[in-house]
Amino acid sequence: MLVAFALTLICLGSIVALVIYTDARGAGLPENPVNQTQDVLLTLAGVSQQLDRIELDVRLYRITGDEDQLRLAEGATVTLNTLLARLQEQLQGDSVQERRLAGLIDAGADLTAAVTHVKPGGSPIRDQVVDCRRVLNLMQDEERTRLTTREAQAERNNLYGLARRVLVIVIGTILILVLFGFIIRDVVRRGRFEDQISDANERLRQTVQRLEEQAWTSRLLISARDEVSLCLEVKQAEECTVRYLEQLLPETAGSLCIINNSRQIIESKGTWGGADAVTFDGFVPDSCCALRSGRLRWRRPERSEVHCSHFAGKPPDRYMCLPLTAHGETLGIITVECPTSDGAALAEGREGTLASLAEMAAMAIVGLKLRQKLESQSIRDGMTGLFNRSFMEIALEREVGRAGRQGKQIAVMMLDIDHFKQFNDTFGHEAGDVVLREVAETLRLGVRSEDIVCRFGGEEFVVIMPEISAHAAIERAELLRRIVGELALRYRGQSLRQVTISVGVSMFPENSENPEELLRSADQAMYGAKHKGRNRVVTADSSLRV
Ligand code: GH3
Ligand code: MG
Ligand code: MG
Repeated sequence: MLVAFALTLICLGSIVALVIYTDARGAGLPENPVNQTQDVLLTLAGVSQQLDRIELDVRLYRITGDEDQLRLAEGATVTLNTLLARLQEQLQGDSVQERRLAGLIDAGADLTAAVTHVKPGGSPIRDQVVDCRRVLNLMQDEERTRLTTREAQAERNNLYGLARRVLVIVIGTILILVLFGFIIRDVVRRGRFEDQISDANERLRQTVQRLEEQAWTSRLLISARDEVSLCLEVKQAEECTVRYLEQLLPETAGSLCIINNSRQIIESKGTWGGADAVTFDGFVPDSCCALRSGRLRWRRPERSEVHCSHFAGKPPDRYMCLPLTAHGETLGIITVECPTSDGAALAEGREGTLASLAEMAAMAIVGLKLRQKLESQSIRDGMTGLFNRSFMEIALEREVGRAGRQGKQIAVMMLDIDHFKQFNDTFGHEAGDVVLREVAETLRLGVRSEDIVCRFGGEEFVVIMPEISAHAAIERAELLRRIVGELALRYRGQSLRQVTISVGVSMFPENSENPEELLRSADQAMYGAKHKGRNRVVTADSSLRV
């Protein structure tokens, strides 16, 4: 467009210059008809002047006889002839005037001859001068007429020239304006185009950023899912979740809080970013607005003024609470505190991913809790919480094998509550259950952490004690018998009678190296204790008897 503009300007300049040059040249040319006519008229006036001089000098000569006057007259004829010769040149090609000029030249020749023959006091030369003047007047009239016509023509030409220049200037101006308009339109379009390109680039950049963010959060979720699925314990899954929450929400602090088994208290299971300084560990569910509303909730200045009350000190300005739910059950909450507005914006942008991560964590935690419950149910006795008989059999086999390899001793105790049936018969089956649970708890507390206490069946218990001598085992059995005997149990306001137990102790490898035989010999020893009057400890090997 700029090139077109420049070319147009050059063309216009050239045309204007050409027009001006043509006009100026036309006005100043020697062959300009007006100039030519004026030249002819000037020469004709010169001829007329010479005729006057010749006539005057000849008259003076005739009157005075002064030879000088005659010479002046002859000189004037020479000048006259010179002027006539010039006229011949000036009127070349003009047939009308050429014809008249020929007549004038003839008359001039006659006049020249007459001047040559003039005598003082002689005849005048009036006729020759009159002849010359007659032709001269004709020629002058002709030239004056022409001058008028040509001047009018020149005037018209000038007007045309002016109109041409004005027209060229107007057209040129219009063209320049049009081109200028095109250039402005082009510049505006280019500006819009550049704006569109920059908008498109910005949109592209945002799309790329969004895709990168999506890819990153997807990778994070996949990694979190893989990690959480590897967890075998609830605690592990909780710690893993907190780690991924910290990665997902940088520039924030937060905690993962889980409702306890009684569903009365929410406990913090893990924190990041120093959130433990502000969040209570152990708060009631009602203190969290998100838990009350059952959905994610943001607290921000000027957007929501209601605060949760699970903060130890002054609540943070910006925070978010997200309930953890799985299968319709609320497990707890994730609290996210955002000290910076950037952190808050990031957390808000990642709400979707956070919700997915929370859902995944909640599902994993529920799954692990269920698994723990099922596992516990499969190895534990439902009423007393002790290991059940099948677990005991496996554990005994394992311990016997290990002790055999390590050359260590094991004690196996069989314990039976004496006259237990009477509790049932006297106070009812529930009272019997209370006695069973209390005795079980007493046994559990009365052994070492590595010992295994099991409910063998009914009111019979088995205790496996690895790495223990016969002496220590008998002492431990006596201790158990004594502390059970010291139990002061009540049921529905009534005191129950003293609970006593009979205990049979069998030792590996002394009594047997076979788990079943070990158990059988302990059972036999326990029956021995019954026969001997109950509430006592009897060993399988009488030499070990206390
Ligand atoms: P002994 O001193 O000879 O052991 O007498 P005992 O009464 O303890 O033994 P017995 O075998 O005659 O009675 C055991 C009773 O324990 C019979 C059964 O009804 C009761 N029993 C077994 N399991 C449970 C239980 O889970 N709950 C309650 N309440 N009673 C149970
Ligand atoms: Mg029994
Ligand atoms: Mg019994």
